[in-house]
Amino acid sequence: PRQTQIGLMSHAELVSEHETQTANYAKLQTEKLTLDLTRGKPSPEQLDLSAGLLALPGPDDYRDGSGTDCRNYGGLHGLPELRAIFGELLGIPVENLLAGNNASLEIMHDTIVFAMLHGTVDSQRRWADEPIKFLCPSPGYDRHFAITESLGVEMIPIAIGNDGPDVHAIAELVAADPQIKGLWAVPNYSNPTGVVFSEAVVRELVSMPAAAPDFRLFWDNAYAVHPLTETAAPVVDVLGLAAAAGNPNRPFVFASTSKITFAGSGVSFFGSSTANLDWYLKYAGKKSIGPDKVNQLRHLRFFGDAEGVRRHMQAHRALLEPKFKLVLRILEDRLGASKVASWTEPKGGYFISLDVLEGTAGRVVALAKEAGIALTPAGSAFPYKKDPEDKNIRIAPSFPSQQDLEQAMDGLATCVLLAATEKLLQN
Ligand code: PMP
Repeated sequence: PRQTQIGLMSHAELVSEHETQTANYAKLQTEKLTLDLTRGKPSPEQLDLSAGLLALPGPDDYRDGSGTDCRNYGGLHGLPELRAIFGELLGIPVENLLAGNNASLEIMHDTIVFAMLHGTVDSQRRWADEPIKFLCPSPGYDRHFAITESLGVEMIPIAIGNDGPDVHAIAELVAADPQIKGLWAVPNYSNPTGVVFSEAVVRELVSMPAAAPDFRLFWDNAYAVHPLTETAAPVVDVLGLAAAAGNPNRPFVFASTSKITFAGSGVSFFGSSTANLDWYLKYAGKKSIGPDKVNQLRHLRFFGDAEGVRRHMQAHRALLEPKFKLVLRILEDRLGASKVASWTEPKGGYFISLDVLEGTAGRVVALAKEAGIALTPAGSAFPYKKDPEDKNIRIAPSFPSQQDLEQAMDGLATCVLLAATEKLLQN
């Protein structure tokens, strides 16, 4: 373990430290690793927790509580009983929550495309008919930014702090610029920082005056029920607060069971005002005659009630928490004293956000790749993949085994120290 703060080293000490890390790195390369810390996928053991789903609903079970034959077409809203369970967890009345197919990203993409092609219920013109912009708290979720980038939406990075994005910066921009139509947000256990938005931040976001009457919060509550602790952080009633603030149509709320059951075969949810849901269904109803209700029924039978989901999430926690602890321990042991890196200690979600010495994230990722450790490309968590300080790296501990994770993190720490000493010697 390092005992010395690298930034305070004399030139001679730095040279010696660089030699040590170069040797460590050479040794790492001889290990011929093939490890992957890139995506926040559930591990096979986590997927096994939902193995029961594969036998559900069973050959004779195809009707929900209202008698709907789930095998047939129809039911655009999704099964009421499953919506009730997730409505309870997300703090959304069942009539304001739809259940869909396996990907909430698809609904996010659709809402933006529908707004582009048709305008929203509050739009004066279609979003495609003017240059539009989204505010992007960063570091954030790369696939959010990929959607807006692919649709030609200008993205403006916003700083994110311990209780959510910088609402003062947001308020100033939103009040002044009618081309700002959206804000990407992951309110609970953000990807990748683990930040939980405070109620005060949520109140600001739903109530701030907006130059665009059709300004929307793309409220992706993907990790609402994903604590690494006994109880989850509260889910703030964003729709209720928005309605009370006179902006009932501002939030579009998204969620899914991708990180609850099967990442590729879960159920997605879309919550919003009645006007927004009617708007969405008008166009979604052209795309599809209805969602996969058999999968929804399977999920309903599997969980039974909201408490069933909470219990299930504690079983995930039992598998995830040791991995997060391992990552945090190695970061502290290998990098703590050096002061060339800082990292988040999330209470839930799927990621740890690591900040290395400014200007070295790209180099660290390249070094790690050369040593057989795959990391998400540097800059991925920023709009246009451009991290202005080239320092952020997203760590996804869920998928690798404990042993692989330990090796990968130890190797990553070596790359961080090597890149830092290199950089400091250049200066
Ligand atoms: N939102 C966030 C913040 C995510 O991290 C992820 C990836 N797990 C998703 C959405 C993807 O959701 P879905 O599988 O429902 O498309």
